[in-house]
Amino acid sequence: MALAYLLGKGASKVLRTKINIPLLLVLSILPDIDLVFEVLFRFPIHRGPTHSIVMALMVFIPFFIYYRKKSVPYFLGFISHFLIGDFIVGGQLMLLWPLSFSQFGLHELGFLFIDIYSPVNVALELSLFLIGLVVLIVSRDWRVFFGGDLSNFVLIIPLTTVLLPSTIGYPFTNSLFLVEPLLALAHIFYLVLFSFAVVVALCSFFRKKNKRCSTNM
Ligand SMILES: [Zn+2]
Repeated sequence: MALAYLLGKGASKVLRTKINIPLLLVLSILPDIDLVFEVLFRFPIHRGPTHSIVMALMVFIPFFIYYRKKSVPYFLGFISHFLIGDFIVGGQLMLLWPLSFSQFGLHELGFLFIDIYSPVNVALELSLFLIGLVVLIVSRDWRVFFGGDLSNFVLIIPLTTVLLPSTIGYPFTNSLFLVEPLLALAHIFYLVLFSFAVVVALCSFFRKKNKRCSTNM
């Protein structure tokens, strides 16, 4: 999420477009929706079609045509998940599905296999988290989470994806607190921030609804 935020933020600066940060964060984790299918249908599909650059381009073509440069930061946030994150960590990506079923990744190119608990990954993830946090503070983007905008409801999705690994441990075998406490702390930060944003959006929703009711009366 931090990587997508940094790329999306950079692109929005260069292209002079506005970005919806909660939406960008959701898109950055969306490729892992295949984990849900894996659980529901017990079919090994993770890192398959939803992690394909061909599929990503096909899905984004209508957005490129309609929203033009406004869609670029979101596209970058989406593809950064597998073209950078998963490519370095774990690999085994069907990047060219359905044109090819071959698997890609740093390891497949002959480099060392980096798994999620590897010190290299922990260092990379924490660095990105901290850089993202600094940019969020310096650019004053943090205000987005406290504004009560109804689009903040989409944060329920990343809220779940940081809640599950840090508590029950899904999709890993144990809670992140037990196996990688440093990464768990980053998860908890997002957990608190997103929970707060959703609660503020909920309050704002009911406040608007009540105001409408009293105006109608
Ligand atoms: Zn993934």
